[in-house]
Amino acid sequence: MSADFRNENQPFDTIVMVDWSGVPDRGPVPKPNAIWAAALRGDRVEAPRYLRSIAVAEAWLIDLVHAETLAGRRAMIGLDVPFGYPGEAGRTLTGSGDPRALWSLLAEGLAALGPGETRFDLAARLNARFAGDGPFWFNGHPEREIAGLSRTKPPLPPGLSDRRLVERLARGSFSCWQMGGNGAVGSQAMTGMATLHRLSQTFPDELSVWPFDPPRAVQLVEIWPSLFADRAARLLEERDDLPRHGRDRAPIKDAAQVLAMVELMKEAQEDGRLGRWLDAPPEEARRSEGWILGVERATPLAPPPLSDDCFALPPGVAWTPVDVALGLLRERLGPVTGTEVVPLDRSDGRILASDVAAPRANPPGANAAVDGYGFAHAATGAGPQTLPLLAGRAAAGVPFGGAVPPGAALRILTGALLPAGVDTVVLEEDTRSDDGWVAFNGPVRAGANTRRAGEDIGAGALALPRGHAMRPPDLALLAATGVDRVAVRRRLRVGVLSTGDEIVAPGSDPDPSRTYDSNRPMLLALARRWGHEAVDLGHVPDDRQRLRAALDGAQAEVILTSGGASAGEEDHVSALMRDEGTLASWRIALKPGRPLALGMRRGVPVFGLPGNPVASLVCALVFARPALSLMAGGPWPEPLAMTVPAAFEKRKKPGRREYLRARLGPDGAEAFRSEGSGRISGLSWAGGLVELADGAVHVRPGDPVRFLPYAGFGLG
Ligand code: AMP
Ligand code: MG
Repeated sequence: MSADFRNENQPFDTIVMVDWSGVPDRGPVPKPNAIWAAALRGDRVEAPRYLRSIAVAEAWLIDLVHAETLAGRRAMIGLDVPFGYPGEAGRTLTGSGDPRALWSLLAEGLAALGPGETRFDLAARLNARFAGDGPFWFNGHPEREIAGLSRTKPPLPPGLSDRRLVERLARGSFSCWQMGGNGAVGSQAMTGMATLHRLSQTFPDELSVWPFDPPRAVQLVEIWPSLFADRAARLLEERDDLPRHGRDRAPIKDAAQVLAMVELMKEAQEDGRLGRWLDAPPEEARRSEGWILGVERATPLAPPPLSDDCFALPPGVAWTPVDVALGLLRERLGPVTGTEVVPLDRSDGRILASDVAAPRANPPGANAAVDGYGFAHAATGAGPQTLPLLAGRAAAGVPFGGAVPPGAALRILTGALLPAGVDTVVLEEDTRSDDGWVAFNGPVRAGANTRRAGEDIGAGALALPRGHAMRPPDLALLAATGVDRVAVRRRLRVGVLSTGDEIVAPGSDPDPSRTYDSNRPMLLALARRWGHEAVDLGHVPDDRQRLRAALDGAQAEVILTSGGASAGEEDHVSALMRDEGTLASWRIALKPGRPLALGMRRGVPVFGLPGNPVASLVCALVFARPALSLMAGGPWPEPLAMTVPAAFEKRKKPGRREYLRARLGPDGAEAFRSEGSGRISGLSWAGGLVELADGAVHVRPGDPVRFLPYAGFGLG
């Protein structure tokens, strides 16, 4: 799949990261720390460079693009300014959804400023193109009022958003409508987009602006260093070669930031993240809004490693009740998988790595719910109604261009956008029509047979939360709102290893002293059913060295072993981990099951499941399933349980929970005829498990019992 995500221009020979600034280049004295840039050329990271003003920075970038393209090198240049405005704002300003039209408008607007005028005056002029007060606000001139630019935040014009899609992912980002004040980015956005215009005009064939253009030799990308503030902070702590200023010679933060960004992009290029980031932006971002490179990392991508004493039990605990064991796992395990972006139609079964907001409302516009006739409700009343019909009709996908005057009606079909003037539809079956007229009995309820825009889900509303495991209906929901790719957790790599001298591959050796390996195919299949990547680690005999080598060499984020988990002399899984000090053997008050050897080896949890296949399955369903789900970034899944009458009789002593192989018959839950833990046929006979509580139980036929169907454990 990673092949889909290669950006053909990678690897970049040169990576330049620029910290822009809203400071205009028209002031008499250049402001300190206006613009900083850092570069990677080949393998060498160059010292951060100070660019006094936008004009100087632009000239430097132009030289750079010339030099890179002449030398046949591929380059990526990051600018920390938004490359677009949210939603439809660009269209309102320019009459076109093309971001280039917006950049050119801003560049020309800034160039046309009169004497003494600044970008705040431009903001006021742009506001005039919107309804109400317009979105731009904040006047940076304390002494001068600017008509059309409020000093405080006015209400946003209807339909306009404060944030782009990507900014809903990037927590703490500022709105581009705010032109000044602490942290504001409105001015940078303007001057930066004007620069985008000039650069792309200068190099129409050599330079592309991501994510709008197909990649060219030099790509301009939007960055937001605050996403990676931790890295800049580390540089400030650790490096003594940073540029400094002031009397106390403090290192300059902006310089550290661009340097940190260059180092980060270098790493990301080397480990393949950069290619995925470049390919991540959704359709809406590619059309007009733009995207922040690497924003995926702002979603919970690099979870902290699980702690080494993750499985430690309180001292003195002999038998751990099932619920206590589950509670401990739930508390201590967390996601260990990174994220990747996949096309929506490949996302079934995957776990969302971040919240997904609806890019577009569903339905996007008010439309007809039935075939019939549309009209303005206000012009109708009770009793027989006869309305003149306009020529033409409104059909799904073929809107009626004109307006329907009050008192007139129009033929309208299911799914058609309501034309201007129509708010109500009368069902075709309730009417009679004859050339030019439609008649029906009033009153018809206002808004009847119509669907409101956004009545299903509004634009920008949370469609699905992070951690949600995608199912086919979820694909429909996201597709309906315009989502075509989603950030999901990478699949958890679950290694499965069988242990035991007697274990051989099925069918390989008829010697009756041999046992065919039945756990491994079962556990591998379980891992796959649960949506993980199953890694077959094979089989090792009861040999400490071979076991250690198998565990150490495993390319897995969690390992399930079977066999050798008890405390006997041939129980090498628990023995190895005990010797290493990584074992937390849980004696769980559970039948069948009991020994569960849990260990953390170098950050990789090992679930030592019992060898006995019946116990192995029960422990996998009860413990491994929810544990793996958490590690994969998903929810803690509770098994689906139903209360049904027992079709069996059974007495049990107090002290441990018991699971019986069971299935539903005409009289309720039937239990398998034998409880022998070697009876694998019972596992296959069963359709689920009956769970008997930890205390003493006497079940008689007809008594209610808890039946957990296999399907509820994800085994359909
Ligand atoms: P152990 O936990 O290693 O003492 O194994 C308990 C029982 O389970 C023994 O009878 C083993 O032969 C059997 N067993 C262990 N591993 C497997 C396996 N992978 N497939 C089938 N049976 C197994
Ligand atoms: Mg064994």
